[in-house]
Amino acid sequence: MRVLSPILHRVIYPVLGSTGYFHSRRIAPLTVITYHGVLPAGYKSEDAFLDNTLVPEGAFRSQLRLLKKHYNVISPDEFLLWLRKGGDLPERAILLTCDDGLLNHLSVMVPILREEKLKCLFFVTGSFLENTPTVLWYVELYLLLMQAPIRNEPICLHGIVIPEISADPGKRRVLWLTLLKKLSQVDAETRRGFLQDAAAGLGLRPSWKVRYLDDPLLRNRFQLLRLPELKQLAEAGMVIGAHTLSHPVLAEQSSDLARAEIADCRMALGQSLGQRVWAIAYPFGDPASVGAREFKLAEEAGYACGFVNVGGVFDTVSSKFRLPRVHITAEMLLPAYEAHISGFHEAVQAKFRALVSSDRRTDE
Ligand SMILES: [Zn+2]
Repeated sequence: MRVLSPILHRVIYPVLGSTGYFHSRRIAPLTVITYHGVLPAGYKSEDAFLDNTLVPEGAFRSQLRLLKKHYNVISPDEFLLWLRKGGDLPERAILLTCDDGLLNHLSVMVPILREEKLKCLFFVTGSFLENTPTVLWYVELYLLLMQAPIRNEPICLHGIVIPEISADPGKRRVLWLTLLKKLSQVDAETRRGFLQDAAAGLGLRPSWKVRYLDDPLLRNRFQLLRLPELKQLAEAGMVIGAHTLSHPVLAEQSSDLARAEIADCRMALGQSLGQRVWAIAYPFGDPASVGAREFKLAEEAGYACGFVNVGGVFDTVSSKFRLPRVHITAEMLLPAYEAHISGFHEAVQAKFRALVSSDRRTDE
């Protein structure tokens, strides 16, 4: 697929997109789209890997206009009604969702959504319970590791060993993934303590992260919504769902921690907003991060449904607690975007995988 992907994105998708092929083929009735936010105008990305999940502001607007022209965007309330009572959805129905609760969801996405008269289901963490502005903990960990001076000596903090800090950014990213899993195993308080001590222990200045919360452009990119902003998001007609209290890799946690992350987020959101919270999106949402245990915990916590972040278009609901979504990334141009949301990209991938495995069987 690595060889095929550039050909698809640069040649095949633009040609098929220009002929209207994606929205004219028969596709399953519903696609749920996952956004993670937008890159605010004027923000200069310094790290494509870090910003890959955020789409440029202009691209977001073009994508919504394409959806309005050729698809039917349903509201979260219409989706819930369909999930509960069944019935027919409009052809090529789309549900918009957005994870993480960044400030730019309110400051940039909501005005565009309102202009286009569309509604979105926003999944937020319990960070709105904090009194001070914050950044997602695993994003802070990433920024910290990328900025730490090279180090050859291991360091042990809160029982977690950081072996060395290489000059190679690729190796730093591998270390980030390892620490992301390890830190998901502990509670949010311990994680916070680790991050504070790691910054000092690895030789960063105490003020190293101030700019992410002080600079207006960086704040709009990195800062999480606090309670007054979360209320504005709901008042703007958007629907709020849960994304756990602290965005851990749930599969790495004990059952007690995972249960609290899932159930307490619903309760805290419900109490703070005075609304019934009926949906959860599991953090990261891939098969390595979430599974049968979490689907059951979400059901027990009283949610009506739960979303993963893989899969794609669907017509029947095999499990209300493992609903698939199509993940949108920064590099998707409009034809690739349509190839993904129409299920075409997923179908090509499945055919390619089947071909490769039958080739392997023939070789054996
Ligand atoms: Zn998330």
